[in-house]
Amino acid sequence: MRAALERQNEPLRGGGRIIGLGGWLPKDVHDFDWGCPVPDLGCNTLVCGDCQASVRSWSGLVAIDWAGVDPAVLYAHQGAGVPAGFILDTAAGNRVYGCRCRWTQLTGQQLLEVVDAGPQTPVYVSQWRCAGHPAGMPADLAMGVPSTRAEMASQVGLLLGRRSALVSETGKPFASPCLDLWRYEAQLDDTFQQAMAGCVQAHLASTDIETVYAALEYLRFAPSPEAGRAWLRRLGEPDDIGAAPDPAGSPRTLKSQGLRLLEVLGHDALSRDQGPESGLVDALLSAARELPISRVIELAARLALPDCVSFLLEGSERINFSIRSALERAVESAADPALTAARAVLQRSKADPARKAVVQGVLG
Ligand SMILES: [Zn+2]
Ligand SMILES: [Zn+2]
Repeated sequence: MRAALERQNEPLRGGGRIIGLGGWLPKDVHDFDWGCPVPDLGCNTLVCGDCQASVRSWSGLVAIDWAGVDPAVLYAHQGAGVPAGFILDTAAGNRVYGCRCRWTQLTGQQLLEVVDAGPQTPVYVSQWRCAGHPAGMPADLAMGVPSTRAEMASQVGLLLGRRSALVSETGKPFASPCLDLWRYEAQLDDTFQQAMAGCVQAHLASTDIETVYAALEYLRFAPSPEAGRAWLRRLGEPDDIGAAPDPAGSPRTLKSQGLRLLEVLGHDALSRDQGPESGLVDALLSAARELPISRVIELAARLALPDCVSFLLEGSERINFSIRSALERAVESAADPALTAARAVLQRSKADPARKAVVQGVLG
């Protein structure tokens, strides 16, 4: 995700990637394969080291006669119709790539560089490689590279507030609500890139649910204790903004989206050996109630073992195997005072005896 700006016509170290229809092959040459979290991204400036031709691609073609395909004939094919040896079947998710001397097809993705080839001696699995991409914002973002922090803050606000128009070639919207933000970030120099998360974080307090959702998506991949704190304050408000479907229609909630930030905040407290932020354990356990994720319970238990024991005793859901083993791991690392307090909670509890016995078994 972090890429240097000094790449004017410099081939990227990654060597480029070829990709099927499920991924994204950008049309704008400013968009490059910078390691975007989602979707997978292909290079659009590939050249062939043998025939020197620019590599072309065809969406939805599927080879039915591999031996009969003439690369030169395929390369010349443009516009309507289907070249000899292929059928058109977009639903298969296939993309065909070709230069004047070779061709291939794929539905997944392939990096064109063997990474472990020794220092500065990239070996390409084929003769295709990225020819470099000019620096500058992709045209559809309709903004230039910022020259001041204030300009960047305002551009980040614009990008968070509008939905990307990018749709995959299989017709599905890309699942990420902040793809444009990543494309924007890829064009910034290091100093500006480092300031991006702070700009995005300021929008966690927005009253626009889509903006908050997009900001959380960005911060999920660039989490920090500061962002966790900002999100925790937001959760404390009475008008919790609730659930929002992602642009692809998946039922994801803001709470689950922001959970990563809270986890980072929790791990930060553990690494500094300081008590958890006020409200953090409650927020983690509340998330754990909705999505019983054992690592979240374990984190909550490491931060406040007695709270977690109450949660397990009084929570309405079944104590399943993963929750129990999370507690076991936490007990192994908990200090004596925390264990003593946890046992006291167990003694006082009026929870159903079967459940108490399970927790008793773990606490010893
Ligand atoms: Zn490239
Ligand atoms: Zn070639």
